[in-house]
Amino acid sequence: MNDQLLIGVLGLQGDIEENIKAATNALAEMNQIGKVISVRYPEEIMKIDGLIIPGGESTVMGLLIAIKTGLLDSLSQVLQKGLPIMGTCAGMIVLAKKSYDRVVGNKKQLLLGALDIEIERNSFGRQFDSFESNIDISGIGNDFRGIFIRAPSVISVGPQVQILSKFDEKIVAVQQENIIGTSFHPELSGDNRMHKLFIESIAKWKKANNH
Ligand code: GLN
Repeated sequence: MNDQLLIGVLGLQGDIEENIKAATNALAEMNQIGKVISVRYPEEIMKIDGLIIPGGESTVMGLLIAIKTGLLDSLSQVLQKGLPIMGTCAGMIVLAKKSYDRVVGNKKQLLLGALDIEIERNSFGRQFDSFESNIDISGIGNDFRGIFIRAPSVISVGPQVQILSKFDEKIVAVQQENIIGTSFHPELSGDNRMHKLFIESIAKWKKANNH
């Protein structure tokens, strides 16, 4: 792992800075040369080796993706070439094929359809709005501090999707080839294991694709 990696955090809305920090720290902990930047223009997105879609508000993020010239198109292109992508919370929703809101039901929103999963938004209810719990994540280990903020859960997965973690019977982390989705916010936990897992997949992908 010595190739320089360029990692983008989709810089439209949500916890962009926190993800830049977590990924930068993860690179350092791995002794991996690389840089993490905020990206929002097509020409920036076409240059990166991996993309993080942060948590925030998925409907707003979808709207911004739809109205910014060329953005949806460049995201579709990088998805097509198999670029590693990690979506946390709202970012996972944006990557999903289908979603509905537990409180308001179906709501029209732009979804990239890259992860073959169905999402229930705001899945943990009102009194349980935001909470923390230690969770076990396959491929990473135990006792990851999961920070859930108006979090979604995954209610069904397609055949290509691997379930990485469950909390309270609900699926809270998944992986489909190079795409990782989490219900929680790994960028807020001070534990960079999830970002490291993602960076490993970027390094592998870059090597395999001579990118
Ligand atoms: N509830 C938000 C949504 O549906 C996600 C919350 C988050 O990203 N922390 O988009």
